[in-house]
Amino acid sequence: MIVKPDGVRKRHCGDIISFLEKNDLDIIGMRLVKLTATTAGEFYDIHRGKPFYNDLLAYMTSGKVIVIALQAENAVARMREIIGATNPRDAAEGTIRQLYAESIESNAVHGSDTPENGRREVGFFFSEKDLLETT
Ligand code: ATP
Ligand code: MG
Repeated sequence: MIVKPDGVRKRHCGDIISFLEKNDLDIIGMRLVKLTATTAGEFYDIHRGKPFYNDLLAYMTSGKVIVIALQAENAVARMREIIGATNPRDAAEGTIRQLYAESIESNAVHGSDTPENGRREVGFFFSEKDLLETT
Protein backbone atom coordinates (compact mmCIF):
# COMPACT_ATOMS: atom_id res chain seq x y z
CA MET A 1 0.00 0.00 0.00
CA ILE A 2 1.03 3.62 -0.48
CA VAL A 3 -0.30 6.60 1.45
CA LYS A 4 -0.49 9.07 -1.45
CA PRO A 5 0.61 12.75 -1.28
CA ASP A 6 -2.87 14.02 -0.30
CA GLY A 7 -3.05 11.50 2.56
CA VAL A 8 0.34 12.66 3.89
CA ARG A 9 -0.42 16.38 3.34
CA LYS A 10 -3.71 16.12 5.22
CA ARG A 11 -2.00 14.24 8.07
CA HIS A 12 -3.98 11.05 7.67
CA CYS A 13 -0.99 8.67 7.90
CA GLY A 14 -1.80 7.74 11.48
CA ASP A 15 -5.46 7.13 10.70
CA ILE A 16 -4.59 4.96 7.72
CA ILE A 17 -1.97 2.93 9.59
CA SER A 18 -4.51 2.48 12.37
CA PHE A 19 -6.91 0.93 9.81
CA LEU A 20 -4.24 -1.61 8.91
CA GLU A 21 -3.63 -2.53 12.53
CA LYS A 22 -7.32 -2.84 13.35
CA ASN A 23 -7.77 -5.14 10.36
CA ASP A 24 -4.87 -7.46 11.32
CA LEU A 25 -2.77 -6.54 8.30
CA ASP A 26 0.86 -6.87 9.48
CA ILE A 27 3.27 -4.11 8.47
CA ILE A 28 6.56 -5.76 7.48
CA GLY A 29 8.17 -2.73 5.81
CA MET A 30 7.44 1.01 5.86
CA ARG A 31 9.23 4.11 4.58
CA LEU A 32 8.55 7.80 3.91
CA VAL A 33 9.81 8.68 0.42
CA LYS A 34 9.39 11.21 -2.36
CA LEU A 35 8.94 9.43 -5.67
CA THR A 36 10.91 10.60 -8.69
CA ALA A 37 9.22 10.78 -12.10
CA THR A 38 11.23 7.70 -13.13
CA THR A 39 10.16 5.61 -10.13
CA ALA A 40 6.52 6.69 -10.37
CA GLY A 41 6.54 6.04 -14.12
CA GLU A 42 7.85 2.50 -13.68
CA PHE A 43 5.55 1.83 -10.76
CA TYR A 44 2.49 2.84 -12.80
CA ASP A 45 3.73 1.28 -16.02
CA ILE A 46 0.42 -0.65 -16.36
CA HIS A 47 -1.37 2.69 -16.82
CA ARG A 48 1.06 4.06 -19.43
CA GLY A 49 -0.89 5.48 -22.36
CA LYS A 50 -4.09 6.04 -20.40
CA PRO A 51 -5.50 9.59 -20.48
CA PHE A 52 -4.81 10.17 -16.78
CA TYR A 53 -1.25 8.75 -16.80
CA ASN A 54 0.71 12.04 -16.97
CA ASP A 55 -1.48 13.72 -14.35
CA LEU A 56 -1.14 10.65 -12.13
CA LEU A 57 2.68 10.84 -12.29
CA ALA A 58 2.67 14.59 -11.61
CA TYR A 59 0.39 14.00 -8.65
CA MET A 60 2.33 11.03 -7.23
CA THR A 61 5.58 13.05 -7.34
CA SER A 62 3.97 16.18 -5.83
CA GLY A 63 4.80 15.34 -2.22
CA LYS A 64 5.96 12.73 0.25
CA VAL A 65 4.34 9.30 0.30
CA ILE A 66 4.56 6.37 2.70
CA VAL A 67 5.26 3.01 1.09
CA ILE A 68 4.05 0.09 3.17
CA ALA A 69 4.64 -3.64 2.73
CA LEU A 70 1.89 -5.74 4.26
CA GLN A 71 1.66 -9.38 5.15
CA ALA A 72 -1.52 -11.30 5.95
CA GLU A 73 -3.59 -14.23 4.80
CA ASN A 74 -5.52 -12.99 1.77
CA ALA A 75 -3.82 -9.61 2.22
CA VAL A 76 -4.69 -8.03 -1.15
CA ALA A 77 -8.41 -8.74 -1.03
CA ARG A 78 -8.69 -7.65 2.61
CA MET A 79 -6.67 -4.47 2.02
CA ARG A 80 -8.72 -3.57 -1.10
CA GLU A 81 -11.88 -3.97 0.91
CA ILE A 82 -10.85 -1.46 3.57
CA ILE A 83 -9.55 0.98 0.93
CA GLY A 84 -12.85 1.22 -0.96
CA ALA A 85 -13.55 2.12 -4.59
CA THR A 86 -11.08 4.18 -6.67
CA ASN A 87 -13.53 7.10 -6.84
CA PRO A 88 -14.34 8.20 -3.27
CA ARG A 89 -17.88 9.01 -4.42
CA ASP A 90 -18.39 5.27 -4.98
CA ALA A 91 -16.46 4.13 -1.92
CA ALA A 92 -18.43 2.24 0.71
CA GLU A 93 -19.19 3.80 4.08
CA GLY A 94 -16.30 3.55 6.53
CA THR A 95 -13.62 2.80 3.93
CA ILE A 96 -10.34 4.75 3.82
CA ARG A 97 -11.25 6.49 0.57
CA GLN A 98 -14.76 7.37 1.68
CA LEU A 99 -13.34 8.95 4.83
CA TYR A 100 -10.16 10.61 3.59
CA ALA A 101 -10.04 10.90 -0.23
CA GLU A 102 -10.94 14.11 -2.07
CA SER A 103 -11.26 12.90 -5.66
CA ILE A 104 -10.59 10.02 -8.03
CA GLU A 105 -7.01 11.25 -8.40
CA SER A 106 -6.29 12.46 -4.88
CA ASN A 107 -7.67 9.29 -3.38
CA ALA A 108 -5.54 8.96 -0.24
CA VAL A 109 -4.01 5.54 -0.88
CA HIS A 110 -2.80 3.09 -3.47
CA GLY A 111 -3.32 -0.60 -2.99
CA SER A 112 -1.92 -3.46 -5.06
CA ASP A 113 -4.67 -5.12 -7.05
CA THR A 114 -3.42 -8.73 -7.23
CA PRO A 115 -0.98 -10.81 -5.13
CA GLU A 116 1.36 -10.91 -8.13
CA ASN A 117 1.36 -7.10 -8.47
CA GLY A 118 1.67 -6.86 -4.70
CA ARG A 119 4.92 -8.83 -4.78
CA ARG A 120 6.20 -6.74 -7.68
CA GLU A 121 5.33 -3.48 -5.93
CA VAL A 122 6.84 -4.53 -2.59
CA GLY A 123 10.00 -5.49 -4.50
CA PHE A 124 10.05 -2.01 -5.95
CA PHE A 125 10.68 -0.37 -2.59
CA PHE A 126 12.06 -3.09 -0.32
CA SER A 127 14.76 -5.72 -0.59
CA GLU A 128 14.13 -9.15 0.94
CA LYS A 129 16.46 -8.35 3.84
CA ASP A 130 14.51 -5.14 4.70
CA LEU A 131 11.29 -7.02 5.30
CA LEU A 132 10.50 -8.02 8.87
CA GLU A 133 8.30 -10.92 7.95
CA THR A 134 6.02 -12.54 10.46
CA THR A 135 6.80 -16.25 10.68
P1 ATP B 1 -4.65 2.35 -7.00
O1 ATP B 1 -4.00 1.56 -8.10
O2 ATP B 1 -4.06 3.74 -6.83
O3 ATP B 1 -4.80 1.62 -5.72
P2 ATP B 1 -7.13 1.64 -8.08
O4 ATP B 1 -6.52 0.30 -8.28
O5 ATP B 1 -8.37 1.74 -7.29
O6 ATP B 1 -6.13 2.64 -7.42
P3 ATP B 1 -6.55 2.14 -10.86
O7 ATP B 1 -7.56 1.87 -11.90
O8 ATP B 1 -5.41 1.20 -10.68
O9 ATP B 1 -7.34 2.35 -9.48
O10 ATP B 1 -5.96 3.59 -11.11
C1 ATP B 1 -4.74 4.01 -10.49
C2 ATP B 1 -4.88 5.42 -10.00
O11 ATP B 1 -5.01 6.29 -11.13
C3 ATP B 1 -6.13 5.69 -9.17
O12 ATP B 1 -5.95 5.44 -7.81
C4 ATP B 1 -6.35 7.16 -9.41
O13 ATP B 1 -5.51 7.96 -8.57
C5 ATP B 1 -5.92 7.33 -10.86
N1 ATP B 1 -7.06 7.22 -11.76
C6 ATP B 1 -7.71 6.11 -12.15
N2 ATP B 1 -8.71 6.37 -12.99
C7 ATP B 1 -8.69 7.71 -13.15
C8 ATP B 1 -9.47 8.63 -13.90
N3 ATP B 1 -10.47 8.23 -14.66
N4 ATP B 1 -9.15 9.95 -13.81
C9 ATP B 1 -8.13 10.39 -13.03
N5 ATP B 1 -7.35 9.56 -12.30
C10 ATP B 1 -7.62 8.26 -12.36
MG1 MG C 1 -4.67 -0.03 -9.25
